[in-house]
Amino acid sequence: MRIILLGAPGAGKGTVAKLLSDHDGSVQISTGDILRKAVKDGTELGAEAKGFMDRGDLVPDSLIMRIMEMRLQEPDCEKGFILDGFPRTIPQAEALKALLEKLNIILDFVVNLEVPKAVILDRLTTRRTCSNPECQEIYNIKSNPPTDDGKCTKCGSPVIQRDDETEEAILNRLETYNEKTAPLIGFYKGEKLLKSFESLSSMETVNEIKKHLG
Ligand code: ADP
Ligand code: ZN
Repeated sequence: MRIILLGAPGAGKGTVAKLLSDHDGSVQISTGDILRKAVKDGTELGAEAKGFMDRGDLVPDSLIMRIMEMRLQEPDCEKGFILDGFPRTIPQAEALKALLEKLNIILDFVVNLEVPKAVILDRLTTRRTCSNPECQEIYNIKSNPPTDDGKCTKCGSPVIQRDDETEEAILNRLETYNEKTAPLIGFYKGEKLLKSFESLSSMETVNEIKKHLG
């Protein structure tokens, strides 16, 4: 499959992307994961991105497009991909359109995950993430907690609250989403690629998406 996942922070893009990737081997491409790994590895790219990320601001479009232009040409993308957290702005969506045309890639569709704001806020403040950049398993202190001593059940690394998961950064991320990313819904409607899924569980959403893939 070749799809884009759209949705506010906390809408469940990461979880849905992982389940879809397990389904048919399409690779999950999360710009957030790529950037966090770059920060952790101390690369030049990471140093450039860190300040924006910690504040909950978007990283500049030019930097994101540099990453994605290379990423989409890696061999593992040939069997399909699930874009999680990209594109995030109209300029990114336009640059992606041109890039896909250049690479002769056709998208199946764009999935819009619609989740009520109260649910999103509750999820984000209770969310924890495995600190191992190779793992990054997502936990929730209420519904899906790590071990009693706060370790990842998959890899044993400490499970932490991300720097951008303080209340202030969360509110900023939601504002940024409304201002910069929500307009993509109209963009992809215009492209006749949009399919919306209203506040379903991740499992139900994945089943619906599979039906549409035919
Ligand atoms: P979220 O949980 O907010 O969806 P992500 O893991 O997708 O978070 O991204 C974390 C941070 O990485 C964002 O707040 C932003 O600073 C940066 N980032 C990720 N993807 C993009 C993108 N496509 N464009 C600009 N910034 C991005
Ligand atoms: Zn882990």
